[in-house]
Amino acid sequence: MASEEQKVVLITGCSSGIGLRIAVMLAKDEKKRYHVIATMRDLKRKDKLLEAAGDAYGKTLTLKALDVCEDESVRQCISSIKDRRVDVLINNAGIGLLGPLEAISMEEMRKVFETNFFGAVRMIKEVMVDMKKRRRGHIIVMSSVMGLQGVVFNDVYTASKFAMEGFCESLAVQLLKFNITVSMIEPGPVHTEFEVKMMDEVAKMEYPGVDPDTVRYFKDVYLPSSVDIFEAMGQTPEEIARCVKKVLE
Ligand code: NDP
Repeated sequence: MASEEQKVVLITGCSSGIGLRIAVMLAKDEKKRYHVIATMRDLKRKDKLLEAAGDAYGKTLTLKALDVCEDESVRQCISSIKDRRVDVLINNAGIGLLGPLEAISMEEMRKVFETNFFGAVRMIKEVMVDMKKRRRGHIIVMSSVMGLQGVVFNDVYTASKFAMEGFCESLAVQLLKFNITVSMIEPGPVHTEFEVKMMDEVAKMEYPGVDPDTVRYFKDVYLPSSVDIFEAMGQTPEEIARCVKKVLE
């Protein structure tokens, strides 16, 4: 259980990548300043996190199920926390969507917004009232450089991150007087499952009905150059986790 001195930090999407690393880094803080509630939508995916957390599991790290797209899951998770106390909320869960717009269904687009935008908004709504009562809190959102600049063939993903940027800028002003800080993290490419899975899958895809020049450009120019950029500029999840830790200090 968290002590009064510790900050209770709830993180979404801790089964892999950046969320997993943030959870482990904060749970292993040398001064034990954080009690981490690491959440993931499917607890069957917990092994990597628990292996990386080692001894911290059960001490400074606890694990809970949470799907940011499900109202009931979010409500249950927050209600199960002692006094509903979340001092720091890290909205990390997110999904990507890559490809020519003609090849993307409305359902896929809605899923991206439901996860990246409404998922974070749902979390913020659930913890905000208690943060306001306590007059302290920190909300961190994992945005992206694509929350600041459009990138070809990432139209919908980029839009979901832009939406989050606007939402947070507006909310931050209202929460200031309650001593609640809102921070956005905007990483460039990060080496995680996110990127590898997506590049592999889309490289194999067929795009019937899409202008052949667009498909050629997407497969022969855009995808290989993205892989190069990831290799040349990609950061590790540890580097992003260090950045989050700095923001909290
Ligand atoms: P990963 O795919 O490794 O991790 C994404 C996490 O989000 C997974 O734990 C996944 O869970 C979880 N997730 C997806 N949908 C839901 C949901 N409905 N409820 C709860 N959890 C969910 O990717 P990253 O670590 O790279 O991504 C983390 C964040 O960083 C995202 O918001 C992404 O947009 C952002 N980002 C990533 C960059 C990159 O290059 N990798 C660059 C800039 C920003 P599950 O295991 O169940 O799928």
